[in-house]
Amino acid sequence: PSADADCDVLVIGGGPGGYSAAFRAADLGQRVILVERDATLGGVCLNVGCIPSKALLHVAAVTEEAVRLAAHGIHFGAPTVDLDKLRTFKTGTVRRLTDGLTQMARQRKVEVVRGSARFTGPHAVSVALHDGGTRDLTFAGAIVAAGSSPVALPMLPDDPRVVNSTGALELPVVPRRLLVIGGGIIGLEMATVYSALGARVDVVERLPNLLEGVDRDLVAVWTKRNAHRFDRICTGAEVTAADATPDGIAVRLAGEAAAQTYDLVLQAAGRSPNGATLGLDAAGVALDGGFVPVDAQMRTNVPHILAIGDCVGQPMLAHKAVHQGHVAAEAAAGHKAGFDAAVIPSVAYTDPEIAWVGLTETAAKAAGRSVEVARFPWAASGRAIANGADYGLTKLLFDGKTKRIVGGAIVGPSAGDMIGEVALAIEMGADATDIGRTIHPHPTLGETIGLAAEAGLGLCT
Ligand code: FAD
Repeated sequence: PSADADCDVLVIGGGPGGYSAAFRAADLGQRVILVERDATLGGVCLNVGCIPSKALLHVAAVTEEAVRLAAHGIHFGAPTVDLDKLRTFKTGTVRRLTDGLTQMARQRKVEVVRGSARFTGPHAVSVALHDGGTRDLTFAGAIVAAGSSPVALPMLPDDPRVVNSTGALELPVVPRRLLVIGGGIIGLEMATVYSALGARVDVVERLPNLLEGVDRDLVAVWTKRNAHRFDRICTGAEVTAADATPDGIAVRLAGEAAAQTYDLVLQAAGRSPNGATLGLDAAGVALDGGFVPVDAQMRTNVPHILAIGDCVGQPMLAHKAVHQGHVAAEAAAGHKAGFDAAVIPSVAYTDPEIAWVGLTETAAKAAGRSVEVARFPWAASGRAIANGADYGLTKLLFDGKTKRIVGGAIVGPSAGDMIGEVALAIEMGADATDIGRTIHPHPTLGETIGLAAEAGLGLCT
């Protein structure tokens, strides 16, 4: 590190990738400056992503569960919604975490500069400060963690009744009718929240399937459980036009004569990387369609400038950004480090949850790879039956030759909490015997992972 520079490591972006990198670099003894253009640390995840959405999904799950209990003789009555209080709960959850980050930065002597950074050379940025003015900063090494932004669909009008995930999380209203454009994780999570709050929700997805990439048998469970929840789920359907009218946003789908009118339209059709917004060319860093290409150490083509998180590629997930942040900080400090995660789990925190990791059955078939598939339907799990979740499914994939686990997927309550065991098993090179012989607590939903492995071994309890 150059003693003349303002810092050893300059981190641009205070999201999960950026704050993890900054804190790790500081823990390794580096002088760190963290530049964040927003008022709070935490990035998309804490402010307008993972955390507020999960606060609202928790409320949605409890609401739905309360309704379901009526079948078992417990009646709570129809829920009423106080949006102001719900917003306060959500905002409080976010604030607790973002305040915690500010505290953690202070403890580590990470200097946080509020403003928007742009490269002016290979060792320099200019920061347009949040409170006005600019500040020039020099660095020995930099870690770019600038994240991603929601894609705006060109056919949608510029109208307050058309929102992206950030707008939807502000809970402007509970619309009578909501259209969610995009049947991926974010779209389905927000559809779940608004439906629980009382909106009539339609979902439209351009691709032939919801949650593209997830095995159909799991999505089928989800779709069946959600048939009552949504008015229409249109897959393989394209929005061709949308007009702002006094009655709402009139949306037309390809092949449909009549437009449908909605009080709120949520566009959740993907996110694009922020790599092109930083003037990286001034530092000589190459871009690939807005993404910043990096090697296993998270170094760009300019070796002292590293990049991590959403702005380097898919999957755009917080836990991937955190992991890459640690690798980048260690590499920048001269340690041996590399990003070689065998698997990155994905979770849709809907009702029920769907979680998957590693190879899917569909991808294995497409690649002509020999795998053995072990399934454990939750109809045979005591805990699932007691919890009213007998519709769930746990599936494990083993390599046809080595019998090692190569993938897994779960649909049902708490699937996201359970998929970590499957990720660990893959990272550790476990086989069906390792998992089947591991004693799982009874009666739990997690037990279904051990039972699926036993099913794969041809054993049953
Ligand atoms: P970001 O979190 O996007 O942070 C980048 C930061 O850089 C931002 O704070 C931005 O203001 C700042 N920045 C950008 N340019 C500059 C600049 N020039 N100068 C200074 N600062 C700059 N992921 C999960 O793993 N689990 C979930 O449950 C989940 N739920 C989600 C729900 C929603 C609604 C959304 C939208 C996303 C969700 N994600 C989830 C994705 C997750 O939020 C992202 O993958 C994660 O935030 C990426 O972290 P990051 O550090 O790469 O970037």
